[in-house]
Amino acid sequence: MKNVMPTYGRIDLSFERGEGPWLFTKDKKKYLDFATGIAVNTLGHSNEELINTLISQSKKLWHTSNLYNIKPQGELAELICKNSFGESVFFCNSGAEALEGTIKLCRKYHFNNGDENKTEILVCSSAFHGRTLGTLAAGDNEKHREGFGVNTNGFTRVPFGDINEIKKFINKNTAAILVEPIQGEGGINRSPKGFLKKLRILCSENKVLLALDEVQTGIGRTGKLFAHQWADIIPDVMAIAKGLGGGFPIGAVVAKNKAALGMSPGTHGSTFGGNFLASSVAKSVISQVIERDFLDNVTKIGNKLFQEIEVLSQKYPSILKGARGKGLMIGIICNVSNIDLCKNLREKGLLSVPAGNNVLRFLPPLNIKLEHADKCIEIMKKTLDKMMVEQV
Ligand SMILES: *Cc1c(COP(=O)(O)O)cnc(C)c1O
Repeated sequence: MKNVMPTYGRIDLSFERGEGPWLFTKDKKKYLDFATGIAVNTLGHSNEELINTLISQSKKLWHTSNLYNIKPQGELAELICKNSFGESVFFCNSGAEALEGTIKLCRKYHFNNGDENKTEILVCSSAFHGRTLGTLAAGDNEKHREGFGVNTNGFTRVPFGDINEIKKFINKNTAAILVEPIQGEGGINRSPKGFLKKLRILCSENKVLLALDEVQTGIGRTGKLFAHQWADIIPDVMAIAKGLGGGFPIGAVVAKNKAALGMSPGTHGSTFGGNFLASSVAKSVISQVIERDFLDNVTKIGNKLFQEIEVLSQKYPSILKGARGKGLMIGIICNVSNIDLCKNLREKGLLSVPAGNNVLRFLPPLNIKLEHADKCIEIMKKTLDKMMVEQV
């Protein structure tokens, strides 16, 4: 890949084919994919319904323009709204774009209401929202910003999960607070129980919009279609992407009509956003995720994995320190380097993703079976035994 810009620290490994939770290299070596392109392959690889949807749509029409009606886009929006707080949806192609749209919507809402000075967005410690200039400003990673001349005006950092501290930062210029229900890149950080509910009340009392980044937590990852549904709250707007297209790039801004009032013709746009191919595939992803028992399976398998990892943590305390997260968004707290553990697991055929705070993430396809969870634990045991020997 000598002509590819070296922005990634790539692992020297590539795959040729995927089937369910399995990835195969050219020489037929097999890996259990608990990374899923970072929470993207919601239904694993080569899902038959997704393949059929993509093939049949590709024979009809790929792309027109958002200058015209796009039937599957309308249907996808309807499906999302039927299964969430949403009333209107803007489509784009990635998580960062979904966040850009979310931030724009929040500011425009207040502008539209005559509150032109309400532009300040409260953003959280350890947050990650993407790599565009706007989302870099919102995220809490100084290293990601270094050298890029990022203007962080309009964003105020507040401590994740601390409602009393957050309260102190709200003033007459506060437009919105942007939160991940569970922080992904930051290390699978969960907020204290009741935090989102208190945040909802705080926002409503102060005419501040509640904006959620569900790019990683959304589309069933935590065992509900959207993670905030566990907290039984209604946000004003949320950004989704990653798992939405099951591997086809698509993102979306999902909003209450009232919050989206400023987003009138000409205010925002995307050339590719929600085109025929992307919308058709995403429709099929969501249709499968909301099928009976699908989300219960996420919770069931997730619980099983959490239990087993707990047992392993007791047995190998010098390597593991338990796990946190929800559903199939699992963060393993490491007592060795998370990157080291990731590498050792990979060498034994299990793919995972490092996150902040020395946490290692398991983000398997949501339709895995118990046997795949068992296989994961089996590989973990072998790996941990080997690492124990090396530690001595
Ligand atoms: C991955 C991610 C993003 C950025 O998504 P891209 O598609 O890479 O732009 C934003 N927010 C969260 C929570 C994410 O996990």
